[in-house]
Amino acid sequence: MFIVGECPRCAAANQTLDVLAHTRIQNIRVRSPVYISRLEFLTECRSCGYGSVYSVAAKFQNGYNQENLPGELEELLRQDRNVKDWGFEILSHIPLTSPEAAPSAIPNELEPFYNEASGCIANGYVHAACVMFRKLVDLATLREPLIDLIPEADRESFRANNSLKWRLRQIVNHQPVYERLIRTAEYIKVLGDKGAHIEELLTESDAKDAKAFADLFIQNVYFEAARAAEIEARHSDRLGSR
Ligand SMILES: [Zn+2]
Repeated sequence: MFIVGECPRCAAANQTLDVLAHTRIQNIRVRSPVYISRLEFLTECRSCGYGSVYSVAAKFQNGYNQENLPGELEELLRQDRNVKDWGFEILSHIPLTSPEAAPSAIPNELEPFYNEASGCIANGYVHAACVMFRKLVDLATLREPLIDLIPEADRESFRANNSLKWRLRQIVNHQPVYERLIRTAEYIKVLGDKGAHIEELLTESDAKDAKAFADLFIQNVYFEAARAAEIEARHSDRLGSR
C-alpha cells in the first residue's frame, strides 16, 4: 500500500510514500456494529527515501481487533494500491525529524551532550533537552579555555564549587569583558534548572532558545577563541620577523 501526498521530510507535493509497517490499533465504536479503527503507518518516501509516520483512520463493520488485524493488514500492505482504496483516511503525519548536528567548533568531550540535547528536541523531550544543554555549559566552565580566565591561585576553589551560578559570576568578576557571553550561559542554566526541577512546564520554544543560546556560547567560546589564537600567532610571527 502507499499514500499519495506531500512528503513531510522533503516537502515535495504529490509524492508516493510506501507503507512499510503499521502499529497502535484503536477501535472506537461509533454505533454498533460500526467502528472507527485508528492506526499509524510507517512510510518511506519514494523520492527522498526518508521515513514519516502517518496517523490514519478507517470505518469498519465490527472493527478490527488484535487477533484478525495483523494477518489481514499484512496482506493489504503488500498490495500496490493507494490506502484510500481501502477506506483509510489520513488524519495527520508525524515526521521523524533528525537531530541537528553539533557546531563543528565543539570539543569532542562535549559533543555527546550537545547531540543528546539536540536529539531530545527532535523527539519532543523539551525538559530533557534544556537539562542537557545546562550540563554542557556546566562542563564547559571546568575546562579550557574558560578555566584559564580564572587566576591560577583561585582555580582549585573554582573547580571545587558545585554552584554553576557562582562559577559563571566568578568568570565575569575576573573578566568583565565576558559579561555578554556569560549571560547566554546563565539563560541556559535557568532553563536547565526549570527542566530538572519542573518548577513550570517548558515549551518547545524554551528548548529552541536553550539550543540557540548554546550555539552562540559554543561559537563564542570555542570557534572565536581558536580564531583569535590563530590571528595572534600570525601577528606575533610577523612582528618577530621584522
Ligand atoms: Zn520525501
